[in-house]
Amino acid sequence: MDVGGARAASPGPLRAVELIRVRLPLVRPFRSATAEVRTKEALLVHVLADGVDGWGECGAQTEPTYRGETVDSARLVLRDHFLPRVFAGRSLADVRGNEFARAALETALLDTRLRAEGRSLASYLGARRERVAAGVAIGMSDDVGELRELAATYVQAGYRRLKCKIAPGADLAPLAAVRAAVGADIALQADANGSYTENDRDALAALDDLGLQCVEQPLPPDALVAHADLAHAIATPICLDETITSARVADEASRIRACRVVNVKVGRVGGIARAVAVHDVCRARGVDALVGGMLETGVGRAVNVALAALPGFTLTGDLSASDRYFATDLTEPFVLAPDGTLAVPDGPGIGVTPLPDVLAAHTVAREVLVPGR
Ligand code: MG
Repeated sequence: MDVGGARAASPGPLRAVELIRVRLPLVRPFRSATAEVRTKEALLVHVLADGVDGWGECGAQTEPTYRGETVDSARLVLRDHFLPRVFAGRSLADVRGNEFARAALETALLDTRLRAEGRSLASYLGARRERVAAGVAIGMSDDVGELRELAATYVQAGYRRLKCKIAPGADLAPLAAVRAAVGADIALQADANGSYTENDRDALAALDDLGLQCVEQPLPPDALVAHADLAHAIATPICLDETITSARVADEASRIRACRVVNVKVGRVGGIARAVAVHDVCRARGVDALVGGMLETGVGRAVNVALAALPGFTLTGDLSASDRYFATDLTEPFVLAPDGTLAVPDGPGIGVTPLPDVLAAHTVAREVLVPGR
């Protein structure tokens, strides 16, 4: 799949690329084992070509606590390394790492091209679904009653899958409370964000009775064999998120049975084409896959929803409606239908565009880069 990363955008000469930093308050703070986010800061990449433009969102956070990238590091790498290559018509292949930055740029270039062709991202990817099931992630809270109430509210709204953030010492009790609140039929996952060690095997095995669909990233990102060892010791399937940085790692993880589920994030693996490659590995190896999220605005969410319409995404992903996160999204909002699904955008490109007044109200910095300077 050519996603435009190797060459400059095809619709016509690139006139400029804007790097726009936006800040949106979350409707409630979101706490994981490694970070607490109260305000979503995102870097948007806006490609302006002849007569058409395109958008991408960088999912990196302000702190380097998920992967190593941040909003700021991504901006610098885009400005100093990726964009000079694109402006010169050069390949991006020699740049290592910086997956979130790469993904944002490649998405914006691909969006530009698909808009020029009048073709939706979903159709370009070979999507098989017009709607995708919506799941919701619940941040950590010291108040178990609050977790119970939130979980019940989300299920009532139609969400088909819950994922609770956990950490050592904050796992069995909150998960059991949520399970009791929503019943046995709701798919329930836990996500540890790499916060456990090999010494915590008993605590993780204690979750086996909860009937979890999976426990996500129990051990640190660089633990591959240790995840395979853990998989032998617990009954709950292991899902890998932070560890899976490429199709190669996904392939090796599945070969050694380090996971039965892979969380696929476009930003973490460096773009849509690479995310599809991870999806393809999962499909070939019979590993379940789900689309993960980074609290994206509507720009990134549109990409996640289109990706989730591929047939290898066998489990409900972190795909929530806009109002789960924001009072006002940057784009037309993604709305949860009563049957617990979101519509896959079918307009040209990613199918959504930031609303000019909302974008202006939430922009905190803007940098315009042009070829030849
Ligand atoms: Mg995760």
